[in-house]
Amino acid sequence: MSISQPFVAHKFGGSSMRDAERIAHVAATLATRAGEPQIVVVSAMQGVTDALIALVHSAAARSDDWREALARLRDRHQAAALALLGAHAEATVAWLDQEFANLADVLHALALLGTPSREALDLVQGLGEVWSSHLLSGHFKVRGDASVWCDAREILRVRAEELGVMVDWPLSQAQFDTFRERQPSTRYVVTGFVARDSEGRATTLGRNGSDYSGAIFGALAAAVEVHIWTDVDGVYSADPRAVPEAVLIPELSYHEACELAYFGAKVIHPQTMAPAIERQIPIYIRNTFNPSHRGSRISAKRSLEPPVKGVSAFSGLAILNVEGAGMIGVPGTAERVFGALRHGSISVVMISQGSSEHSICCVVREAEVDRAERLLVEAFTRELDRGMIERIAVTRGISVLAVVGDGMAGHPGTAARLFDQLGRGRINVRAIAQGASERNISVAIDSADAARALRAVHAGFYLSAQTISVGVVGPGNVGAVLIEQLREAAPRLRAQFGLDLRVRAISGSRTLAISETGIDLAHWRDTYAQAGDGDLDAFAKHVHASHLPHALIADCSASPLVAAQYPKWLAQGIHIVTPNKQAGSGPIARYREILANARESGARFRYEASVGAGLPIITTLRDLIDTGDRIDRIEGMFSGTLAFLFNRFDGSQPFSALVREARQLGYTEPDPRDDLDGRDVARKLVILARELGLATEVADVDVDSLVPAEFAAGSTDDFMAQLPALDAAMQERLDAARANGEVLRFVASLDASGKARVGLRAMPASHAFANGKLTDNFVQFTTARYNKNPLVVQGPGAGPDVTAAGVFADLLRVAAYLGARV
Ligand code: ADP
Ligand code: ASP
Ligand code: MG
Repeated sequence: MSISQPFVAHKFGGSSMRDAERIAHVAATLATRAGEPQIVVVSAMQGVTDALIALVHSAAARSDDWREALARLRDRHQAAALALLGAHAEATVAWLDQEFANLADVLHALALLGTPSREALDLVQGLGEVWSSHLLSGHFKVRGDASVWCDAREILRVRAEELGVMVDWPLSQAQFDTFRERQPSTRYVVTGFVARDSEGRATTLGRNGSDYSGAIFGALAAAVEVHIWTDVDGVYSADPRAVPEAVLIPELSYHEACELAYFGAKVIHPQTMAPAIERQIPIYIRNTFNPSHRGSRISAKRSLEPPVKGVSAFSGLAILNVEGAGMIGVPGTAERVFGALRHGSISVVMISQGSSEHSICCVVREAEVDRAERLLVEAFTRELDRGMIERIAVTRGISVLAVVGDGMAGHPGTAARLFDQLGRGRINVRAIAQGASERNISVAIDSADAARALRAVHAGFYLSAQTISVGVVGPGNVGAVLIEQLREAAPRLRAQFGLDLRVRAISGSRTLAISETGIDLAHWRDTYAQAGDGDLDAFAKHVHASHLPHALIADCSASPLVAAQYPKWLAQGIHIVTPNKQAGSGPIARYREILANARESGARFRYEASVGAGLPIITTLRDLIDTGDRIDRIEGMFSGTLAFLFNRFDGSQPFSALVREARQLGYTEPDPRDDLDGRDVARKLVILARELGLATEVADVDVDSLVPAEFAAGSTDDFMAQLPALDAAMQERLDAARANGEVLRFVASLDASGKARVGLRAMPASHAFANGKLTDNFVQFTTARYNKNPLVVQGPGAGPDVTAAGVFADLLRVAAYLGARV
């Protein structure tokens, strides 16, 4: 093998080094890259750094637990040594014994001191890398592969600066060159994370710093590529743990990677890019568990499409807000704020200042906020005393969400889209900052909202489908058909419109079926049949999951009890679509509460299917009103059952026989009185009246019932038996109408003054209402614009298929409002 071939640097994270089996896999993966000189930089075995830090603290706290924890850590490493080195393990086992004996001495000293010194922490937390790299290097030799172990503490010199740990390049390069001269090899196995400071003390590059080590050693060895091996296929458009729909970014620029990493994309340490940029070394992020995947490539190449590449969230932060009218126009206040913080080595994650200069807001780590607050109070004592600064306010539990992409700069509307998504997800934005590069917009939000925000924003930029958590109440007639329609449409909605409707709960009056990721709609009946008990509160709570951006309930029941929940649900921000008439025609006070709560929370309440099933009646009426038309009168036939009866009633059969037939065909309610008494029609008329802004109640409607008062009591069978008693009177009304060339129709009417009537009317045979088919519904709007020739909407207005379709259409309107491309 020619040594003149360039090196490639490979860095393996903790997950790749978890145990002997994974470490052996690392060696095997690298060995397949035959002929490639390698710099192999490794992290500690997974969890070891945390364990070492905990040891320091528990020893310093004089708790005796540390001895046992230390023994466990030693056993873990000894076991790995035996597994990796087999018969050749002896020397390494002895070396590990010595290492752990030394560590025990340090911990013992800490226990005597009773305080965890910075130096001890720096020394101890880096030991995991020393051990893991030693094991891997030994394993290569046992395999018969080239390997020289390189302890980075003998090479790397660094100093801590404001922007992070900086490398002393000339000294480090000289030490590395000397090391290589003394021990030439085609493979060096290097300890990640560790280094020495300018005083020669062992230190580290900061948590997650092995990535940075990988790039530094890549640079020192003049490597042509740096591969960072981890447990995911590359850099995703968001943390795949938080947003499972995140997509892999195949190519991103150094700057994009820096921004994502800085704002919390743990997959790569933000400083990793610096040495690579300087020498134009491409970085690949790859998966040890899937080594054939190319991963993400990070390089100088910029691509402006899509404008937003990814979203990340940084948690554990707090906001410091310096407020006061006395700051206005006073130069240098911002400088003093940041000067004070810099002086205390407090790093400021984000800064935002309103142009009024009335307040300066900065975001710092929550762990540092108390100290930061003290520093600011000290720096501004005078101003606080004089009231020029009113207060320094601290808000904890903050996350910063950052949207990142090189293409954002030339792409107007990105910020608008971001805030739109946050608004529709009902996420309160506490502070905003946009980098001058326009490569990043960051917003500070409450941590409790972070998961939801991440998903909403991610979907809002079409990086993933717009997900809506859907709950269906009442899986009877309409509900069951709606679920079937959702199942059939789902693949198309997803592919065409990026809309992901997940039915996560189905509730009956007592039964509740739920699923975290979405009920498999192909088998929903079985799932529902096996479901346990649950009430509407449990149902709504599940639908309104904190991690999903939007929640929607489709109430397919006709229940007043469900309608009674609407005010609460809407106030929580849950959207509602329904064919249930109870809310729209129930007490006006509740109706108003529903509208007010929806307005306040931004949740949508849509009920098109409550009048005329799938026919566009309410939508048409709203369009007329919204475009400034004046509604003079609404007339209609809103009962499919009554339409059917009077279409057929021509005297050839008695009216009672027609009712019996309709009942047999399933065109009536189980008790036909519920159709014949006109109350259902009255409810629909009330719903329309309220669209006009009228405060109509059902009791205000003058209803001419077809059921005589004396028939109101008694069973359905009694009623059916009594029904022929109505035939004569009905025939008389028909004859009278016919004598005038008219027909009988059951009509609802409303005028602009609020006069509402429902009852049987004789209508000219030429009237639109006289010429419907079967169960056709009608509504006729007489308006300023549609005056001589009113606007008529006609069509089948009942039946589960068209009603469910009406509910579905409302659902899609809500989705479109939320940003789906429907
Ligand atoms: P390692 O131990 O290999 O250094 P880390 O746990 O430090 O691995 O980083 C990998 C993890 O980073 C992934 O498992 C993933 O959950 C997380 N992560 C956060 N943001 C992103 C992102 N945008 N793309 C990919 N992974 C991410
Ligand atoms: N082992 C160190 C840590 O856990 C460094 C690293 O893995 O990158 O922070
Ligand atoms: Mg890492």
